[in-house]
Amino acid sequence: MSALKLVYSDGYYLPIGAHVFPAEKYRLVHERLLKDRVAVAADFVEPKPARDEDILLVHTPEYVSKLKKGTLSPLEEAQMEVPYSPELVRAFWLAAGGSIKAAELGLENGVAFNIGGGFHHAFPDHGEGFCVIHDVAVAIRRIQKDGKIRRAMTVDCDVHHGNGTAAIFGTGRAGGSPLPSETKQKVGGAEPDVFTISLHQANNYPAWKPPSSIDVNLPDRTGDAEYLQWLDNALSSGLRQFQPELLCYIAGADPYKEDQLGGLSLTIEGLKRRDELVFRVAKARTIPVMVTYAGGYARNVEDTVTIHCNTVIAAKEIFQL
Ligand SMILES: [Zn+2]
Repeated sequence: MSALKLVYSDGYYLPIGAHVFPAEKYRLVHERLLKDRVAVAADFVEPKPARDEDILLVHTPEYVSKLKKGTLSPLEEAQMEVPYSPELVRAFWLAAGGSIKAAELGLENGVAFNIGGGFHHAFPDHGEGFCVIHDVAVAIRRIQKDGKIRRAMTVDCDVHHGNGTAAIFGTGRAGGSPLPSETKQKVGGAEPDVFTISLHQANNYPAWKPPSSIDVNLPDRTGDAEYLQWLDNALSSGLRQFQPELLCYIAGADPYKEDQLGGLSLTIEGLKRRDELVFRVAKARTIPVMVTYAGGYARNVEDTVTIHCNTVIAAKEIFQL
């Protein structure tokens, strides 16, 4: 048993049938971490589902009601790109509860994982791109409301832009959009409470990318070295502007060169160096970290599992757990 806490439940499985999203990846990551002795059973923490009042800190009452009653319109269901079912809704409430737990454990232990979550395309009033509930936003708003932190930073390294995150938190400014006279990276005036960084492939879903505090729009086929340089720059710039009390790392596996929905060219080794860089920067500044997994659509699902397991290995190495 180590101090590295991994929040996981078999209930994270998404009942979506045959789908490009590998719904079994959470179970496979759990199995592999145990089999390779990266973790032992006692490192895992079973989450409770988020309460409706937690979900409502981010999502509109109308949307939550539609999800609970099964009254989404066909268009709304199509936009989610996963088939609606009560079981699906339960899995997303559980993932959000898992991210709340991981945020709390991250604050207590310096770093913690949700072996799931990272549903960064969910908006307050609708789901999109396989994401129904924005678990990371729910976790941030919950622990802010509980008085555990005031300021959080999201570092989104999924290959797809964090449009839901940006729509929920904007550029980090309390009052909404920046003034036209200010650049979007300037955070002046009202004290922002969430600073959002997204590194993503420019030429990919979503077509409309609402502004994050820092957006790095990467060209197609960006490789390891360039990616790591951009990430280093974004983290340095973000942390010059904003001092978070929690860093929420959205560790998507889909910048991988073999990803079916991604067009970047990172290697498995490069993705591990990415993880190490985020953890090293956070550790150097004693910023607690919570990790979620987001996307990963490698042609071979075992590669996605390897990339996600490597994020745990990187955390153990950097935080010496
Ligand atoms: Zn993605």
